[in-house]
Amino acid sequence: LLARGRPVVGEQGQCLGAVVTLVDITAMKVLDRLRGEFVAKVSHELRSPLSTIHEQLAMLLSDLVGQLSPSDAHLLSRAKEKTQGLIALIGDLLDLSRIESGVVCRTPTAVQVEELLENIIVFLNTKAAAKQQTIALRRASSLLPAIQADPLALESIFGNLITNAVNYSPAGTTIEVTVQRVDTQVQIAVRDEGFGIEARHLGKIFERFYRVKTEKTRYITGTGLGLPIVKGLVDALGGRITVESIPDKGSTFAVLLPLPEADL
Ligand code: ADP
Repeated sequence: LLARGRPVVGEQGQCLGAVVTLVDITAMKVLDRLRGEFVAKVSHELRSPLSTIHEQLAMLLSDLVGQLSPSDAHLLSRAKEKTQGLIALIGDLLDLSRIESGVVCRTPTAVQVEELLENIIVFLNTKAAAKQQTIALRRASSLLPAIQADPLALESIFGNLITNAVNYSPAGTTIEVTVQRVDTQVQIAVRDEGFGIEARHLGKIFERFYRVKTEKTRYITGTGLGLPIVKGLVDALGGRITVESIPDKGSTFAVLLPLPEADL
């Protein structure tokens, strides 16, 4: 049941009582669950044929190198890129449906955040180097205690945030990842010198499929599901995420994660 209430106030401002409405949301919950299951099932069914199409297009392109006219090679490359985009979308939809059904972060293990970030940065350095960007890790002055979390969830959170910083920043800029202890939590901040986000969009970027299209960002591909995934995972880990951004100066996404009670 969903309860909504409001006070009934008299002419002199005195409280006369309250009106409470109870709405039975069982049907809504069932529909929501069915919708989630449907999306998960369809996504799963689409993933493997799409991967096959993608592989076959890649094979065709490499087998026929030098034999295709420039326009045919361009068409095939575009088809390959589009299938890659669909595969990414399906992966994100599956991740989101797993998060929404609450099956993530159930088996926490001890994770050294700095080490995990170092590995993600090594992996994303190639992407950044292609844009002459640098990703710098600024560690805390003393080693932080390990946090109890699902390492795959953490990889997805910081992989998404750092990838966004790379994607939405111009060439030659620096992305700074800072780790520090803040009271009973660990704070990991990803700061870029990128295109930034106008204040009116900031409250919406964590909604599914919300993408900000400006002159500088309209050609950047994406699914609009990265930040909803990040927010869902941070919530599931009992953390919090904040964002500060100034257009044409850059953005900072900061994640606060609780430290295990034994280390406080
Ligand atoms: P995607 O990157 O696939 O579009 P996200 O959910 O990760 O989806 O991000 C939503 C939108 O928020 C992006 O389309 C972009 O407009 C904006 N955004 C996210 N991260 C940044 C960033 N670091 N700098 C500027 N804009 C960003």
